Amino acid sequence: MVHIKSQRELEIMRKCGRLVSSVLQQVAALVQPGVTLIDLDMAAEKLSREAGAVPAFKGYQGFRHTLCLSVNEQVVHGIPSKRALKEGDIVGVDFGLQYEGFYGDSALTIAVGKVPENAARLMQVTKDSLYAAISQAKSGNTLKDLARAIENVVRPHHYGIVREFVGHGIGTRLHEDPQVPNYEEGASNLKLRPGMTIAIEPMINEGTAAVKILEDRWTAVTLDGLLSAHFEHTIAITDGEPEIFTEWENGGLGTLTNHA
Ligand code: MG
Ligand code: MG
Repeated sequence: MVHIKSQRELEIMRKCGRLVSSVLQQVAALVQPGVTLIDLDMAAEKLSREAGAVPAFKGYQGFRHTLCLSVNEQVVHGIPSKRALKEGDIVGVDFGLQYEGFYGDSALTIAVGKVPENAARLMQVTKDSLYAAISQAKSGNTLKDLARAIENVVRPHHYGIVREFVGHGIGTRLHEDPQVPNYEEGASNLKLRPGMTIAIEPMINEGTAAVKILEDRWTAVTLDGLLSAHFEHTIAITDGEPEIFTEWENGGLGTLTNHA
């Protein structure tokens, strides 16, 4: 069942989204060679609590951290550890908050120092595919239109579109109906309507679309060990253009790829 939000509810989600974006960008600014994943996680939790919001992932189905941090071949749901980031890594930072009973959810993939050209291209294409989908998130369009927009950006690069994980409705729960797949075949003809709030989150692999879950039962990695990137926004469908609740300044630090 898809929940249509009232103006009052949308206003809370707007505030929540701004907090998500603010914390995510502050965490992104800490990403550099030598920083550990657990340091980033602790910084995110501190910033969340200072903002008067509750980390959404901590305790979710037993997950014990504020951030999902997915490095290189890790697709999503990487667990913060004492691992230190190295020059040339890319790291997906996925982050959600609960604020006044509503959720916001966003993710960026960030370059650690200078990254190879193939990594920079994967990140850029993934981010472009997210914004292509958002541009189709208009009343009367369908979930297939969103997925097709992603495919149209990604396919020319022969990248793999992850199927096992999808975007989602979001509101009083982190994951609500509808599912928002990133590939047309998996998406429904459900029509978008004003007041619908969804998280769109393409996960794009440099090689095969296939993924597997590590023994920690959380971390998803590419089956071929090649890179993966992930970008996500929480948005609202309106009478006109979609509203991005979690928009990043400067188009996101994910653009600062500094590639060699
Ligand atoms: Mg997320
Ligand atoms: Mg999400």
